[in-house]
Formats: sequence, structure tokens, C-alpha cells
Amino acid sequence: KKIVIVGGVAGGASAAARLRRLNEENHIVMFDRGEYISFANCGLPYYIGDVIQDRQKLLVQTVEGMNKRFQLDIRNLTEVFKINRDEKTVTVKHVQTGETYDESYDVLILSPGAKPIRPNIPGIDEAEDIFTLRNIPDTDKIRGYVDDKAPKHATVIGGGFIGIEMAENLRERGVDVTLVEMADQVMTPLDREMVAPIHEHLRLHGVELQLSDGVSSFSEKGKKVHLTSGRVIDTDMVIMSIGVTPESTIAREAGLETGTRGAIRVNEKMMTSDPSIYAIGDAVEVLDYVFQEPTVVPLAWPANRQGRLVADIINGRDVKYNGTMGTGIAKVFDMTVASTGWNEKRLKAAGKTYEAVHVHPGSHAGYYPGSTPVSLKLLFHPTTGEIYGAQGVGINGVDKRIDVIATAMKGGLTVLDLPDLELSYAPPFSSAKDPVNMIGYVAS
Ligand code: FAD
Repeated sequence: KKIVIVGGVAGGASAAARLRRLNEENHIVMFDRGEYISFANCGLPYYIGDVIQDRQKLLVQTVEGMNKRFQLDIRNLTEVFKINRDEKTVTVKHVQTGETYDESYDVLILSPGAKPIRPNIPGIDEAEDIFTLRNIPDTDKIRGYVDDKAPKHATVIGGGFIGIEMAENLRERGVDVTLVEMADQVMTPLDREMVAPIHEHLRLHGVELQLSDGVSSFSEKGKKVHLTSGRVIDTDMVIMSIGVTPESTIAREAGLETGTRGAIRVNEKMMTSDPSIYAIGDAVEVLDYVFQEPTVVPLAWPANRQGRLVADIINGRDVKYNGTMGTGIAKVFDMTVASTGWNEKRLKAAGKTYEAVHVHPGSHAGYYPGSTPVSLKLLFHPTTGEIYGAQGVGINGVDKRIDVIATAMKGGLTVLDLPDLELSYAPPFSSAKDPVNMIGYVAS
């Protein structure tokens, strides 16, 4: 069998490795238009901040290394620009030589990811030094700019995961940062009262917050950022981090079905509307795990999980993708913010029946040094106890609590089960009643 993969990073590279492990005979071709495959997207902001100092460490696998280890046929710097479903071929173009050819497939896997949104704002086309961050070349540009031009001030537009990580890492480099966010809070997967300490903490670390405001235009080649409030920010550089959009153009042009935000529609076997074509990662529409509604969740866990599953499915295993809860986490200087499932804003807007509880216990026993509060919020159905989501903010131990609750959700546990979770305890780590037990007691 000949299997062709489009995209060689999170989803594509996971699929390729697993395909080879399951079958030694198949011819596996993996295309990526970029020079690098299988790089650490999630580490990019920390290389810009010089927290990760060695650029080489971002390159998890090289083309040569991966070809050799898994006997693949990886063709980087090669863009797939057309899927010819009747002929079962893709038309590709080498991005440097311009050489074009068709490559046949028996099975095609699309893992093209999502691209940063670059809005059509007046003045943006004339502006210089407006950056988006997705891959190694973007990272080199931003880091190179900070190294060479020593900017004094940066404007980060968008207070999601990447915006917050960029604000922090630019501060690490001594750059003053103004963070502009359209909503009245950063990190919108959490509810507003939960991120109030994060707003304080960002300000404490020298990030100026401009909430409930957006960019209306750029002037003077992007050195002036005009906001809808009327404020004008003088800046040296702009990071545009207002979200991503699925790279579904070639799929759509080939007549494959698309759905939410133009993402490629797949079934629980990751199969598109063409049975010879599968799609995974940031480019696909998935089912929300909690309410089984179509949604798009561009995160690394789903891409990796789906990459492995699609290889299993192609090799005849009876497995399926169970949906995405959107479990996510970010470091904000000394704090951690994490969440899973639905938040209260979304439950309320969808008219769902729910109850919310909050607790603020210590990360570990108060009498042992270094204990700090963990603020947890739990959302659940008032009678069945079904858990809809959880949010956590604090300095230590937030990751563990959100991960335990995310696991409980996948395991079908209810709030009534949380007090019964027997979690590890000694004073430096937790309390005999762990914060997850505590919130379970409060909820039930
Ligand atoms: P990608 O990994 O983006 O790979 C897609 C590849 O396909 C790209 O290399 C692209 O060049 C190539 N491609 C696209 N179209 C074509 C074509 N037509 N022909 C050839 N090649 C093509 N997620 C987390 O869960 N936690 C984090 O901390 C986190 N941090 C992140 C930080 C940054 C800066 C970024 C950008 C993302 C981060 N993510 C994080 C998101 C995570 O990286 C993505 O969810 C994941 O990489 C998606 O995998 P994918 O395979 O769908 O797409």
C-alpha cells in the first residue's frame, strides 16, 4: 500500500512513525512545504525568550534522521497544492526549484495544521515588523529582530496561549509589552473571576494590559497601533496572536466536506467524506467530548492522538477518536493557568443547566514550607453530578489537579466520585484531603 501524508509536524510525523511500526512493507511518503519536520512548535516562544537557548533542541527529528529510523520517504520543501481524487494523486511543487509533479496514493492523510489569522486591518500591508508565530522561520525572524534591533516596546495582540507566552518571553528579553485583548479578560477558556489574579500577575511583571479593546488600524509602517478605544500605541514591533484558522483550502478545493470554521469534516475514524482520505490535527472538526457537538480545538494532544489512531485505523484496528475536551495549560511568569472542558460563560450561553463551585485550598499542607493557594472551579450538572469542566489558577500544583479532573471526566466519574479518589499524599505534595477531594466534597 502507498500512503501519502501532507504535513510533517505534530499529527503527520506521529502518523508516519506509527504506520511504520505497524507495517514494514507500506511505502510512506510525507510532504511538508517547510524545511523542518517534527519540530517543537510549543517550545518556540521559549526559544525567543532565550529560556531554551539551543535552537537545535527545537528540532525533535530531522528529515535524514526520521527517514533512516523509520524508512520513510520524506520530501520537505514540497507543497501539496492539489488533490486529484479521481486519479488518486496529489500535485506537488518544490518550493525552491518550482518543479511540479504528481504523486499517487492508495491512502492520503491530511495533517496541514492551522495558520495564524492575519486580519485585513487598514495599514497592515504597509506595516513592517508585524509578526505571527507558527514555525521555525517565524521564530528565527522574531528572535533575530529582538537580537539585532533591541526593540524597546512590543505590542502583543491577543491574550490567548500564544499571546501570553510571547508577552512573557519578550519581557524575559527586557522588552516592554502592551497586551491588547478584545475580551474583558485574557485566557478566555477560563471564566473571568478565575483569571483576575493572572491580570494582576501580568501587570506585576511589567505587561501593560489593554482589555476590551482591539486594533483598528496601523500607521507609520506599523510603528503606531490605533485601537478602537481611540488610544494610539507607539511601538517597535507587533505580535499578532489572535487565533488560527484551519488550513483546509486544498481539501475544500477537492470537494471534501468541511464544517465549523472551515475545518475538514471527519468521522470518528478520522475519515473525510472520501473514504481514501483521512484528516487529523488542527485542520479538522472534532466532536466536543462533553456535549458531542462539532468544534475545532487546535492543540497538540489531539493532533498526536489522532496521528497514532489514524495509523491504527488504516492498519485495520478497531479504534476510534472519542472527542476533544480542550484540556490546556499555560505558564504566566510564576503562575499556572489551566482548564478542561466547558467554562461557565459557554454553559450559560448555551442555556445548559449547571452548578459552579470554587475552592482555594493550599497546594500542599500549610505547615510545610512553600504552600500556595490553588484556586479551583468545577462545573457540573446539579442532579446527575456529570462534570462539565474545571479551571485552576495558582503557583504550584495546578497542573496535577486539572489533569486528575480531566482524567475523571474521560473515565465517566461524577462529582460524587471525586471525594473517593485516593490520591498520593505527604506534606510536601498535598493534604490528606487533596484539593480535588475538597472540591468534590463541596460539590456533593
Ligand atoms: P502542524 O504541527 O502545524 O503541522 C502542519 C504542517 O503541515 C506544517 O509544517 C505545514 O507547513 C505543513 N503543510 C500545511 N499545508 C501543506 C501543504 N499543502 N503541503 C505541504 N505541507 C503543508 N499546543 C498545545 O497543546 N500546547 C502548547 O503549549 C502549544 N504551544 C504552541 C505554541 C506555538 C507557538 C504554536 C504555533 C502552537 C502551539 N500549540 C500548542 C499547538 C500545537 O502546536 C498544534 O496543535 C499542533 O502542532 C497541530 O498539529 P498538526 O499536525 O495539525 O499541524
